[in-house]
Amino acid sequence: TPQAAAESQGFTPYLQLPNYGLAPGRRANATFVILARNSDLAGTVQSIRDMEDRFNRHYQYPYVFLNDEPFDDKFKEHISMLTDAKVEFGVIPKEHWQQPDWVDEPTAEAWRDWLVGEGIIYGESVAYRNMCRFNSGFFFHHPLLQKYRWYWRIEPDVRFHCDLHEDPFVFMEDNNKTYGFTISLIEFPETIRTLWDTVREFTALYPEYVPYDNSLDFVSDDGGETFNMCHFWSNFEIADMDFWRGPAYTAFFQYLEVKGGFYYERWGDAPVHSIAAALFLPKDQIHFFDEIGYEHPPFTHCPKSGNNWKKGRCTCDPENNFDFNEGSCLDRWSMFMNGSIYAPPTLEPA
Ligand code: GDP
Ligand code: MN
Repeated sequence: TPQAAAESQGFTPYLQLPNYGLAPGRRANATFVILARNSDLAGTVQSIRDMEDRFNRHYQYPYVFLNDEPFDDKFKEHISMLTDAKVEFGVIPKEHWQQPDWVDEPTAEAWRDWLVGEGIIYGESVAYRNMCRFNSGFFFHHPLLQKYRWYWRIEPDVRFHCDLHEDPFVFMEDNNKTYGFTISLIEFPETIRTLWDTVREFTALYPEYVPYDNSLDFVSDDGGETFNMCHFWSNFEIADMDFWRGPAYTAFFQYLEVKGGFYYERWGDAPVHSIAAALFLPKDQIHFFDEIGYEHPPFTHCPKSGNNWKKGRCTCDPENNFDFNEGSCLDRWSMFMNGSIYAPPTLEPA
């Protein structure tokens, strides 16, 4: 080896750090999913480097990268080098990405102009709407994802701030969880003017998809009359694709799709996924991952519960934490689930 050759000449060319090796135990049928453009390379490298460092070098879950255009050689090379895990790069079919022909473009344009006038971010962008619709209704149908059940969504330019000592996919599987999040917050109402009315039409038609122990009271303060704008921030998701592929969500997405609100308004995949999870799942199947320190600018979730911050050797500052700031819905979630804004303490020593 180069190491042995160098040592035989009396010097050590580089410090060899111990290889902690792969975590024992089984793996879930899971993958990371990253939607990105070629121009997102630097930010994607940053996100994957964090993920490998904090978790995946010990687990080697595969990665699936998706793009509406082919990834270039530089992107593929710079990304593949960062991990020993399997990495696949896919192109999104046009029908899963582009604005459908039946959407009335002059109407869509007029509403885009209105949203710009309201000062709403991405108000003008058709590409952003394509992305939101794709993440809402199509990513889990991509051919490269068919072999997987679980996914962890990653975006360019995010940070994972803490070591993970438990496999969140296996946790989800073993604890009968379906949807996992770290940050929840308030949506811009201008982007979803008719979404809640559409949801109410759907649930009136399909009451069989709404279990009695749902999370309606997390997303509505008046028993379902109105949406309180609380949703899970879907740039981070650990979830079960079989839920999106199943009958309730399939019917729900189809119902939303034909309303055209992904283009006439700017329905985000975050409120769409969140409302579906809140209404079509028993509340115990939604999980808040306190121990996963996560930053998507401008917000950070830094572990607060028990010893999670120390145990994870986190690089975030727990005082700079969005959890209970203005605009966060975590207080509501905690009250809804635990009857208090503090998560139950853990009992492990630091
Ligand atoms: P934000 O988090 O809502 O501000 O939106 P982002 O700009 O981060 O986009 C969300 C995700 O979609 C990220 O993973 C982006 O890389 C990806 N994305 C957004 N627009 C496009 C696009 O036009 N093409 C591709 N391939 N990915 C996109
Ligand atoms: Mn983002």
